[in-house]
Amino acid sequence: MHKLFFDVPEGATEITVEGEDFAHLTVLRIKAGETVTVSDGVSRCYTATAESFSKKGAVFSLSNPRPFEVESDVKITAYCALLKSGKSDGVIQKAVELGAAEIVLFQSKNCVAEASSEKGDRKLERWNKISRQAAMQSGRDIIPNVRGVISFKEMIAELKTKDISMFLHEKAEYSSYELLSKSLKVSTIGFAVGPEGGFTDSEADEATSNNIPLISLGKRILRAETAPLCILSICGALFE
Ligand code: SAH
Repeated sequence: MHKLFFDVPEGATEITVEGEDFAHLTVLRIKAGETVTVSDGVSRCYTATAESFSKKGAVFSLSNPRPFEVESDVKITAYCALLKSGKSDGVIQKAVELGAAEIVLFQSKNCVAEASSEKGDRKLERWNKISRQAAMQSGRDIIPNVRGVISFKEMIAELKTKDISMFLHEKAEYSSYELLSKSLKVSTIGFAVGPEGGFTDSEADEATSNNIPLISLGKRILRAETAPLCILSICGALFE
């Protein structure tokens, strides 16, 4: 069954879907009489039946309001260094599938890609569209927010406020499993992954001096686009 995201006013038993959401129904070939799952993206899911279609919109009746079904109690924020040539797109798509609550892009010294402000807004719009598509495809209850590009310092300041924070580093000795399996009762997790060229030593020192542990994902060096997916899978196995 399709999972769709619509704004649902409090207590509504019927909604009219117009604009882009309506166009999307056409793409999915949803017809009158068909039932889909709708999430309001905030706190509730509904069973929604397409009652009627006009040129401009579709009317759905809503039943069986219920709490979110697939979101984990642990909110994971993925801090990912900006990657070159559109590689961040793939990371965002797969991080959404693997349950990240939020994805934040940051600039680090070895980033090949530069965050430029005029192109930045368009990129952010594209990244949030990718997140929305991936959330629908994978049946998420929320559309994870994608934001950034923030500075390395801002990333560290945010990361250290999480119940568990991890600075992923290929030379680290402390394993993610060791850290996470000791702390199963947490509500927020954040991790940072460096760019293609890795973090600089002074960036790693800055994490350590902010009490953020350097964490290993094993003895092999993973690509910048593989590491976030690896740690998200480990979190999924431990917390879901
Ligand atoms: N500096 C290296 C590797 C960069 S890999 C080089 O150029 O050879 C890109 C990022 O993936 C790293 O900054 C780190 O955050 C993450 N990463 C890759 N392998 C890892 C591992 N084995 N453990 C933890 N993090 C890893």
